[in-house]
Amino acid sequence: MGSQDETDRDELNMAGKKNEQWNDDSNKKSGPNHNNSLFSKFTKGQFKFSLWYFVAAIVIMMLANSFLSGNSSETISYSSFKELIVSGQITEVQISKDSYLGYSGSADTGLPGLQKPTVFKTVPVVDSGFIPLLDQMNVKYQAVSERSSNIIGMLLSWIVPLIFIVIIWKAMFSKMGGGGSGVMSFGKNKAQLVAEGDTETTFADVAGADEAKAELVEVVDFLKSPKKYLDIGGKIPKGVLLVGSPGTGKTLLARAVAGDAGVPFFRLSGADFVEMFVGVGAARVRDLFKQAREKAPCIIFIDELDAIGKSRLNSAGGNDEREQTLNQLLVEMDGFSAKSGVIILGATNRPEVLDAALLRPGRFDRQVVIDKPDLDGREAILNIHSTDVKMGPDVDLHSIARATPGFVGADLANIINEGALLAVRAGRKKVMQEDIEEAIEKTIAGLQKKNRLINKKERDIVAYHETGHALTAILTPGSDPVQKISIIPRGIGALGYTLQTPVEDRFLMTKKELIGKIDVLLGGRAAEQIIFDEISTGAANDITRATDIARSLITEYGMSDKFENMVLTKRTATFLGQESGMSTREYSETTQQYVDEEVARIISERYKAVVKLLKEKKETLKKITARLLETETISSAEFLKLTDIKAG
Ligand code: ADP
Ligand code: MG
Ligand code: ZN
Repeated sequence: MGSQDETDRDELNMAGKKNEQWNDDSNKKSGPNHNNSLFSKFTKGQFKFSLWYFVAAIVIMMLANSFLSGNSSETISYSSFKELIVSGQITEVQISKDSYLGYSGSADTGLPGLQKPTVFKTVPVVDSGFIPLLDQMNVKYQAVSERSSNIIGMLLSWIVPLIFIVIIWKAMFSKMGGGGSGVMSFGKNKAQLVAEGDTETTFADVAGADEAKAELVEVVDFLKSPKKYLDIGGKIPKGVLLVGSPGTGKTLLARAVAGDAGVPFFRLSGADFVEMFVGVGAARVRDLFKQAREKAPCIIFIDELDAIGKSRLNSAGGNDEREQTLNQLLVEMDGFSAKSGVIILGATNRPEVLDAALLRPGRFDRQVVIDKPDLDGREAILNIHSTDVKMGPDVDLHSIARATPGFVGADLANIINEGALLAVRAGRKKVMQEDIEEAIEKTIAGLQKKNRLINKKERDIVAYHETGHALTAILTPGSDPVQKISIIPRGIGALGYTLQTPVEDRFLMTKKELIGKIDVLLGGRAAEQIIFDEISTGAANDITRATDIARSLITEYGMSDKFENMVLTKRTATFLGQESGMSTREYSETTQQYVDEEVARIISERYKAVVKLLKEKKETLKKITARLLETETISSAEFLKLTDIKAG
C-alpha cells in the first residue's frame, strides 16, 4: 500500500501543475502545488472549486487505470497454458468460473508499476486432469469468487465515468455562469432594462412607416393613460409584431417606443434565449416575465423573434431547447391579462417561419407590416440622416431618393455616411452630390449581388402589370374601387400590389361581378401583352385565381350554358373529418371535358375583351405607369385624377 500512496501524491502534484497552467496569474504566488488546489477549494470562486473536482476525477481515473493494468493479462490458449505449467513458468493459478489466471512469480508481493508478475489468462475447457497436473507440478492454486471481482469491475466501469460526467457538467455550468452563482443566474441580467429617458430615439427619428408609427403611438398612449382605454371597455393588444425586411427600421421603431413611452422597457434579442442547455432559455423567459410583471406597466421587446419562434412543425429532429423556450413564451403570454399593463413587442423579418401559435389571438394578435419606403419615404429618411452631416449646396435629396428605388432605411443611412467618408477622402469640407452618387453606385452593386434589387426592365413590367389591374378595375362596372397601387415588393414573391377594398360587405355576387373579377385579374397580364407584346411569370397567381373563379362558375354556381343550375362538384371522401385526398367525381368524363373546355373558353374570351379594353386606354395606361414608376405608390385620389374616369 505504501507504493500506492506514492502514486497518489504524484498524480495530485501533476494535476496541481495543470491547475496552475490554466489559472496562470492567480495561482503563481501560492505555495506548494498540492496545498494550492486544496486551498482554492475554500477560498476561490466557483470555477476553481469545480476544477478541484476535475483534478480528483483525473486522479481516480489514473488509479483505476493502474489498478486495471495490474490485472492486465495475456489471454492464451488452454493448451499453451498447460504447457506453461508443465514447463514450470506458471507457479500460481487463480481459478474462477470463467477464466484461469496463471502467475509466474509471486502474485502477492509484486510492487505495482515495478516488477509485476507476468499474468497469463486462459478460458478453461472441461479437463479432469488439470488439478492433478497442478498438484504434480507443485503449483499453488486457489479459487476466486467471481462476484468480488465483478463488484470492482462494476465500480470502475460505472461509477467512475459517472462521477466524471457530473464533474464536467459542473465545471461547464460554473464556467458559463461567468462567476455568477450557478445555473439560475443564467436567466438574469440578459434582458436589458432601458430605463425611462435612457433612449434618445423618438418617433421623430423614424420617417415613412406611418402605419406602423400610428399603431405604436396607440400602444404608447395606452401605457401612459390606461384608464382612458379601460374605462370605455377598449381592448389593448397584448402583443404587436413588427414585420418587415431587414433594415426597414423595426428595431429603430421599438427604440422610439422606449424613448416615448416613459415606462420601463425590456429589450432583448431572440438569440439571447437560445442556449446550449435545455431549459435555460425557458428559465430566462420565465424570469423576464417575472421582472416585467413587477415593473408593470412596461414593454417587453423581443427582437429577431424568429430565433425562438420558428415553427415547431418543420424543425426535423426537433430542437428541444428552442421548443421549450417557445412553449414557455406562449405560456407566459397567456398568463397575464391585457389589463396588467405589459405589452410585448416583437420584430421579425421572416414571419413565414414563425410558429402559428405565436400569431393566435391573445399573443401577437396585431401585426404591423413595415414596407420598404417609397419615393417620399426615402426622401424623408434621407432628410433625417443628413441633418448632422454638412451638405453642400448642390445636394438634392429628392433626386437621390429617385435614384434609389428598393433601398431601405438602413441603406439610405449608409449612403449618406459613405458619401461623407468619400468627401473627407477627397479633402472636401462638405458632402457634394457627386459623393453621394458614388456611394449609391457602390451600394447598388452590393445590393444587386445580394439579389435585393430588381432591375429596371422588371420594374417596368411590374408597373404596367399593376396599372393594368387598376385600370381594368376602374373600367369594369361593379368592381371594388382601387385604394392603392404599389410597386414596392411586399412579402415573399409579390413584386407589387393593387389594393381594392369593397365599399360594403357582400354576401352575394352576380355572374356579371364574377366575370368582372376575372377581368381585373387578367388585366395585369393583358397590360404586359399590350406594352411589351410578351407575357411574364409575374401573373401566375392572378391566372390561378381567375381559373378558379371560372371553374366555380360552371361547377359550383351552375352558371354555364349547358349545365345551367346544376352542380358539378367533386365529392371529397372524408375520414374522421379529415380530407383523405381521394375525391370522387360525380359526373362523366365527357362532362369533365366540357368543364375544361368551358373554363378555357371563358378565360380566353375575357382575356381578349380586357386586352381590347386596355388597348383603347393605352395612353392612360402609359401615363399612370409613368407616374407609378416615379412615385412607386399611387393613392386612390391621385389614381382617379389621372384616369379622368368616373368610378363605375
Ligand atoms: P431592422 O431592425 O428593421 O433590421 P433597424 O431598425 O436596425 O432595421 O435599422 C437600421 C438603421 O437604419 C437605423 O438605425 C436607422 O439609422 C436606419 N433606418 C431604418 N429605417 C429608418 C426609417 N424609417 N427612418 C429613419 N432611419 C431609418
Ligand atoms: Mg433589427
Ligand atoms: Zn397581378
